[in-house]
Amino acid sequence: MQKRIRTQGKAVLLSALRGALTVCLLTAAAMAQAATQVEGARLWPAPDHTRLVLDTGAQVQHNIFTLSGPARVVIDISDAELKTSLSELDLSGSPIQRIRSAPRNGSDLRVVLDLKESVRPRSFVLEPNQQYGHRLVLDLVGESAGRSQTPPQPTLSDDPSGKRDIIVVVDAGHGGEDPGAIGPRGTREKDVVLRLARKLAEMIEAQPGYTARLTRTGDYYIDLRSRTLLARRHNADLFVSVHADAFRTPQPRGASVFALSQRGATSETARWLARSENRSDLIGGSGGVSLDGKDDTLAGVLLDLSMTASINASIGVGDYVLRELDDVTRLHKQSVEQAAFVVLKSPDIPSILVEAGFISNPDEERNLGSSSYRDRLARAVLGGIRNYFEHTPPPGTLVAWEKRQGNEGGSYRIRRGDTLSAVARDNQTTVGELMRHNGLSNDRVVVGQTIRIPAS
Ligand SMILES: [Zn+2]
Repeated sequence: MQKRIRTQGKAVLLSALRGALTVCLLTAAAMAQAATQVEGARLWPAPDHTRLVLDTGAQVQHNIFTLSGPARVVIDISDAELKTSLSELDLSGSPIQRIRSAPRNGSDLRVVLDLKESVRPRSFVLEPNQQYGHRLVLDLVGESAGRSQTPPQPTLSDDPSGKRDIIVVVDAGHGGEDPGAIGPRGTREKDVVLRLARKLAEMIEAQPGYTARLTRTGDYYIDLRSRTLLARRHNADLFVSVHADAFRTPQPRGASVFALSQRGATSETARWLARSENRSDLIGGSGGVSLDGKDDTLAGVLLDLSMTASINASIGVGDYVLRELDDVTRLHKQSVEQAAFVVLKSPDIPSILVEAGFISNPDEERNLGSSSYRDRLARAVLGGIRNYFEHTPPPGTLVAWEKRQGNEGGSYRIRRGDTLSAVARDNQTTVGELMRHNGLSNDRVVVGQTIRIPAS
């Protein structure tokens, strides 16, 4: 952060130079140095918007407006000058064709974005964080993005034989201007958690009966509420946010799993009731209840029930995940912790936050940077998720159907990692019995193969 010494105002200069030649006045105005130096610029293209960030060194006053024919966005920054090159920004994937800038009114700065298409701009300033100083942010929201902003409507699964997939939304914490925690060797949380989240989603996708969705697929920021909104939009059965935070000392280490705290739940219930647009959303997902038309007391009771059920389910799945993580890494806490994290506040979607380790611990920073270690972490989280859903599968899913078939002495579809002996053990039978019942000549199985299970 740099704050330049503010030069004397023009009025002072003028009075000091009263009576001097016009040419001297012009020289003095031109010499007046702006208070703020725009020292850097970054561009973060995301699927529904592009974020332009200017490093301003100090807080700035600014004004934005749009012009049409051709489409432009104009940013006027008071008392500022450009000390970086905007022409070197990579504009690919953004709606910006070209960026121009010029001094204005002596000490102000005007930046003009020539656009390929019209956008809805919004701007705000950001306070310094771990990586950057004061910033001016300009979001260019695509004209079509507004349509997807309408509240999602969960699809009702009214066909019990539909055997839908279990949907897991995986959220990589932080991103873009928000690096998250930074390790002693400079590893950024936003980068390692994105790689971990991608691996986890890929492993979930490979499971029959499961679909995974990522909240972010690249290096850009999504605000916390939008992450929970994405989970609703995807009709998630589970939301998993992945982090690797830091402590102020290097010693703490180990993984933790969080669910929403009761205090967080209570304030969220109040917030939902206060916002009328939430009323038309269903709670409880498939076959859920609408709060529309319910009076406050009843709506509050329904929300409390849903919230309590979601927290219990979150603790349940978190517990399975912790048990699996225990084989891969040290645990920071032996049981699921509870906190009022915003991303965990969906009233009807079980949501957990996995702290994969402390990036502030040099050993864990090194581990998190290794893809084989991240693979093991992801496999452990997947194992926990599978174990949870195999015990309590959501109705209407393939996993629920398979569980029922198994209980009735039906069939079992071989998944990756299965062995015939494991299938036999899970169904209280023997390898020999399964081979006889299925006419197999050896105990080799392949993914996707259906094994008939004899009724016990
Ligand atoms: Zn984090």
